[in-house]
Amino acid sequence: MWAAICDIWQGGKSIIIGHTVTFRNFWRPKITDRYPHSKPEENWQPKPGYRGGFAQLKSDKEDRELRCIACNLCAQACPVGCIHIEGEGKGKERHPVAFYIDMGLCVFCHQCVEACPVDALTMTEEYEISRTSRAGLIRDLDELVAAGEGRQEVSRVV
Ligand code: SF4
Ligand code: SF4
Repeated sequence: MWAAICDIWQGGKSIIIGHTVTFRNFWRPKITDRYPHSKPEENWQPKPGYRGGFAQLKSDKEDRELRCIACNLCAQACPVGCIHIEGEGKGKERHPVAFYIDMGLCVFCHQCVEACPVDALTMTEEYEISRTSRAGLIRDLDELVAAGEGRQEVSRVV
């Protein structure tokens, strides 16, 4: 008998607590964005630390020289093998002649970014990356360099 009363009391208490939480949140301002039907605000950008965007290759600010030395460390670090690099030259002259990242396979783990010894590779804050074909998710050298220079117009929208 006593156990049944305790159960009823516990059940009633949890219903009251649950409804109190619902009632309180009912009056709070809505923070849900109906993305992509409506965007939160003009020129909205993800918060710092966002890592879900396309990749980019950085160039030095002064001479716009591509930082990448085609060492292949990022490709080796990638757990899904979605980076392909071909390099030319030796020592300081070494540079990539082909660089592909298949963003359709990428799991956005940032291991490639962390593996790079010269801070040449990073992710953009470009968050609208869906494409209508898998081929549209493969970034080549030109696109990676253009993204690093802030020239997004080279990006293919396929
Ligand atoms: S973020 Fe991860 S999965 Fe994507 S390219 Fe870099 S290492 Fe590969
Ligand atoms: S991006 Fe960095 S790790 Fe990858 S090949 Fe270029 S220098 Fe090496």
